[in-house]
Amino acid sequence: MKIGVLTSGGDAPGMNAAIRAVVRQADALGHEVWGIHQGYQGLLEGDMAPLPSRACANILQRGGTILHTARCAEFYFAEHRVLAAAKLKATGIEALVVIGGDGSFRAAEALQREHGVACAGIPGTIDNDLPGTERTLGFDTALNTAVEAIDRIRDTASSHGRLFLVEVMGRASGMLAVHTALACGAEAVLYPESPDDSYEALVSRLNSNWLRGKRSSIVVVAEGDTTGRAMAVGERLKRDHGLDLRVVVLGHVQRGGSPSAIDRIWGSRWGCEAVRRLDRGERGFYLGEVAGALVAQPLSRILEPQPVPPGDLGRLVSVLAR
Ligand code: ADP
Repeated sequence: MKIGVLTSGGDAPGMNAAIRAVVRQADALGHEVWGIHQGYQGLLEGDMAPLPSRACANILQRGGTILHTARCAEFYFAEHRVLAAAKLKATGIEALVVIGGDGSFRAAEALQREHGVACAGIPGTIDNDLPGTERTLGFDTALNTAVEAIDRIRDTASSHGRLFLVEVMGRASGMLAVHTALACGAEAVLYPESPDDSYEALVSRLNSNWLRGKRSSIVVVAEGDTTGRAMAVGERLKRDHGLDLRVVVLGHVQRGGSPSAIDRIWGSRWGCEAVRRLDRGERGFYLGEVAGALVAQPLSRILEPQPVPPGDLGRLVSVLAR
C-alpha cells in the first residue's frame, strides 16, 4: 500500500517524531510512504514525493515539520477536494495520515466521506483543544517553553515590584494559558472559557493582592481571551489605574524548539499506531490519549461541536496566588 503523510495547520513540536514513526512502521510492514509538502496546499498542487526511511534520520529531536505546513483556503470547497482526491489516485496513494488540529481533521473527514480516501488523524497542535484526547503533539513542549520564559519574567517582575501581563497562544482555548499559569504560580489567568473572566474581576483580584502586600504580579492572558489581548488589557489598566506594568507577548517563541520527551514519545506511538491500523484495513479514525492509554476516535467525532475547557484548574490558580 502507498500511504501519504502530511502536516497541516499550525506547526507543533513532535510532528517530526510522528512523520518518522509513520515512515518506519510502514517500512517494517512493507508499505511505501509518500510525503506531501505544505499540507493540503501541496496535495492540491501534487507537491509530493516518496519519503524513505533514511530521509527521517535526525528529525526526531527537531521542532517544526520537515514536510512544511500551510493553511489552504481552497480546501473548504468540495470542488477542490475533488482535485485533491484525483491527485492521490493518480499517484496510487490509498491512505492518508494527517497530522494537525481540528481543521485538518475536518478536511480529512471530508476527503474520506466524499472520495473514499482512507484517512487517519494524529493530533498535532500546541493548543490541546481536540475532543476525545487529553493530549496533542506540541502542547507539552509549548507549555514548558512558556513556563521557562515566565520564570525569567518573574525575576524582573519581583525585582521591580511590577505587574506583567504575559500573552500565550490559544485563540479559542485556555488550555495552554491555564496550565502555564498554574505551573508558574501566576496571580491570575484570563482565558476564553473562564467563568469569572472579566476586566472588573481582574482589577479586584489585583487590588486584593496589593492589599495583602504583593508588589509584583504575573497575569497570563490567552490570546483569544474575551477581555481583549494582553496589550489592550494593559493599556486599559494603565489608563484606569496608572499602573506601572509591562506586556510581553510570547508569540511564536512557543511554537518552536526541540520537542519534549513526552511529545517525542507520543508522536512515535501515534505514528506507529496509525500505520498498524491502516495496515489492518481500519480507516476514518484519529488517535489520542485518555488517562494514559492510547485511544482512537471515529474521525466524524470532529464534526460534533465539543468545547474542551481546561476544567477547574483556573480556579486553582487564584487559590494558590494568595
Ligand atoms: P488546524 O488543523 O491546526 O486546526 P486550520 O483550522 O487552519 O488548522 O486547518 C488547516 C487546514 O485544513 C485549513 O487551511 C484548510 O485547508 C483545511 N480545513 C480546515 N477546516 C476545514 C473544513 N471544515 N473543511 C475542509 N477543509 C478544512
